[in-house]
Amino acid sequence: MNGISTLGRGIDFLELRFLGAAREVGKSCVAVDTGELRVALDCGMKVHDHNEAPALDKLRFDACILSHAHLDHSGGLPVLYKHENPPTFCTFPTIPMTTLLLEDSEKLAQINGHELPYRRTDTMKLYRKFTPLPYNTPYEFFEGSSFEFYDAGHIPGSAGILFESKAQGKKKSVFYTGDFNSGETRLLPKAKFPRDGVNAVVVESTYAFREHTERAALERKFINSVEDCLADGYTALVSSFAVGRSQEVMLVLKSLLHSKTKTYLDGMSQKVCTILADYPSYVKNYKAFADAVKSLSFVNGGAMRKRIAQKPCVILTTSGMLEGGPILNYLKTLNKSGKGKIFLTGFQVEGTNGRKLLDGEPLSVDGGEMDVQMPFEHFDFSAHASAKQLRDAIRRMNPEKVFCVHGDSCGAFAEDLRENGGFDAFAPALGEKHAI
Ligand SMILES: [Zn+2]
Ligand SMILES: [Zn+2]
Repeated sequence: MNGISTLGRGIDFLELRFLGAAREVGKSCVAVDTGELRVALDCGMKVHDHNEAPALDKLRFDACILSHAHLDHSGGLPVLYKHENPPTFCTFPTIPMTTLLLEDSEKLAQINGHELPYRRTDTMKLYRKFTPLPYNTPYEFFEGSSFEFYDAGHIPGSAGILFESKAQGKKKSVFYTGDFNSGETRLLPKAKFPRDGVNAVVVESTYAFREHTERAALERKFINSVEDCLADGYTALVSSFAVGRSQEVMLVLKSLLHSKTKTYLDGMSQKVCTILADYPSYVKNYKAFADAVKSLSFVNGGAMRKRIAQKPCVILTTSGMLEGGPILNYLKTLNKSGKGKIFLTGFQVEGTNGRKLLDGEPLSVDGGEMDVQMPFEHFDFSAHASAKQLRDAIRRMNPEKVFCVHGDSCGAFAEDLRENGGFDAFAPALGEKHAI
């Protein structure tokens, strides 16, 4: 711990500085300053926008607390290690999952000739400083400052972070939600929150004004559509994010699809399943999860890819936004044969191939353009709280101040919370500081 480095800045309250995901999604990062130490809550990267990391402005950090493995929260972590060596606290499965995603992002950057804002040695320093902690266990990591992880129900190991400081005789607390889901899914229990009484909440705003289709109805519609596709002699190509979404979709397929249907799993999701086998308590029902894994065949290599795409079957694979991974191989084969249908299962960010498909534009593949002739359908198996769930969570915690981040309508969300909820709510701009 190098807390001494930040001593004596004369701050007599908790100060939040918004270094990313401010009125946008990507590079999540909030600096929390107690006057005695400075902590980064997340340090993400804008993966689909030139790998941009938070501008840390030569800020020194005594620790980082990571909410979950997704790269928009973790991708910029190595940047913290350019000049320093602070601990990064997170839950147990977040370590191997973040490592997996960072390794993949470095590999992709190398293949595509993109530059990352850090060096390999910075990543290696981070790996040595990962420090795992369980949920629901307050940890005083510096005299007078503690934090606790709350299960966020978003992906396995995801956490909301309650940070408390008793610096200079005053007790102040902030709850950083990270990404969360208050709805129970097949894979995970719903998010948990601290009781009434926190001073401030930093809340994600992804679905600030959108409700989700009721989950059972969405699952039924998805399965009916997959079954129709198979009955027509087509291959169902299901694109899915490696961490969380693939495992959720696996459980849906296992529960509702005819047990004789040949189903394959390809891409990075395979490794995530292997990681989760080491952390069985981080999924809701491990037996159901293990059964779902057993019901799938893992795809191994290009020859097998070519072979399985010849017959009607279900192929669940990465990437979730058609940006890379085995899905591109399948797309090429099935687009040519005219025997496939694409199922998108998550949000498609602007500029990605997934978004281009939805907008009827050609995809960017291997440096050229690809006109997709296959039919496609979009099912939003969201792992984020809906508009109502966001407001319910805030009302339950009843904070003095609310800061809306991680969304494309943060400003309107803050305004709505002020006018209809009576909260002192803000949508901080990049770099903005607030005392609590
Ligand atoms: Zn996330
Ligand atoms: Zn996120």
